Formats: sequence, structure tokens, C-alpha cells
Amino acid sequence: MLTGTEAAETWIPHGGFQLERRKGKTPEGSLLTTDWLVPAWPHDDLTAVHPIAEQPCLHRVLASCPHDHVVKLAGLYGLLTATGKVARASDLPPEPVETWHREIRALRNATALWDAVAGKDDAALHRALPQHQAAKGKNLLGLAREHLARRVTEKIAGGRLELIAPPDEGPSQFTLCHRPVRLIDAIWQRFAEEIAGLIACTRCPAPGCGRWFPRNGGRSDRQFCSHACQVRAWRNGSPSFDAKRSF
Ligand SMILES: [Zn+2]
Repeated sequence: MLTGTEAAETWIPHGGFQLERRKGKTPEGSLLTTDWLVPAWPHDDLTAVHPIAEQPCLHRVLASCPHDHVVKLAGLYGLLTATGKVARASDLPPEPVETWHREIRALRNATALWDAVAGKDDAALHRALPQHQAAKGKNLLGLAREHLARRVTEKIAGGRLELIAPPDEGPSQFTLCHRPVRLIDAIWQRFAEEIAGLIACTRCPAPGCGRWFPRNGGRSDRQFCSHACQVRAWRNGSPSFDAKRSF
């Protein structure tokens, strides 16, 4: 079965997004006075992008991004909750910046828990589990695994299973594909793929890089995101990364 995350599509205005403070209705239906992500130019043209195909570790990028990078990230990858095709920038529904902050917090907590589970690190498990869970018993690893599975399952509920017809009259078969409806669903589904071992994400250790990339893409495990980074790291000796340049 294909997981369908790489096909997830969003629309980005050429001039990017900006924050606008006003009262409005959230995607969940409540009224809120807050900062909204809106196109910088209302009648701008749009470009379709496939965020997960461009950045396969987008869940990790969001989990580690600084608080004030939301406008920049939206300009690169699109809105988290918009659905369907749109023709003009003014058709994009305004998105509260709080949606980004909430999902970034949730991804940060869940990736910290997963890293503690993967590293079998008891001290980190204590820190990453909610207190009432950590206080339950001695089998922290088992508790953490169950908690993580429940949490991520709740987050990937916004997708559906689709049967895709063959594109031609040749011998190709129908395929079964899980399609996330919104970008945020695709991002959590990608994280679920990492937990299930379908992909492995790592951060490039080359000086001045820090970009997240899939370690197991291609023929063998890669240590650096690009050949240029590999060469730079060799020349510089010790690896280090710059968290500011991590997209
Ligand atoms: Zn790199």
C-alpha cells in the first residue's frame, strides 16, 4: 500500500504570506481575535507545491523550527489546513498562526518522546511522557510506546483510503493508497512512517547546514544531505550544524 504523503498538494501565492491581526472564524469554527496567515497580495497568482516530496522530513523541520519562522515556512510549504484546489490567492482561507504554534508544540513533544523511545533513554522518557503516565509504573518504555502510538493515531485520522484506477489501458493494476486531506495530516502521517521504520530522518552535520533529510533515500545510508556538505565537512574536520539554516 502507498502512503500517499508525497502526493499531498498545497498552493502558495508568489508573494508569500503575511500576518494580519483581526477577528475571524478558525478552521474548528470558533471566533478568535488573533494573527492570521493571509496572502501578502490578495490577487496574486498561485503555484502548486508538493511539500513532502520537496522536504521528506517536514515533521522534523516543524518540530525543530524557531517560534518566529511560521510565515517563512508557510511561504515554502503552504497552509496546514487548507483543502482542495484554489484559483486565486484571495480564495485561500486565512489560517490562525496559533494553529501552527499548536501543531509545532505537539510535534516537538511527540518527536522528543519518539527519540527517547528509539534511544531507550530512561531519563529522556521520564521527561517526555506526561507526568501522570510517567508515575504509573516501572515499564516506562512500554508506556511510552503505547502513549506515542495513541497520540499519533489520533493525529492521522484526517486521511482516507482511496482506490486509484490505472492511468491507461495497459497491464497496470488498481492501487490502494492512503491520502491525507490536509498538509498537517500528511505531516503527521510522515511522522508515523518514521516511527514505523518506512523512512529514517537525520540532520546534516556539515558546518552551516543542519538541513533535515531522509538518511535511507537512494542506494545506501547517507550521512550528509548533499555532496557539497560532505566535502565541506571533510575540509573542516569536526562536524557541527547551524540550527538557523535548517529548512
Ligand atoms: Zn547539508
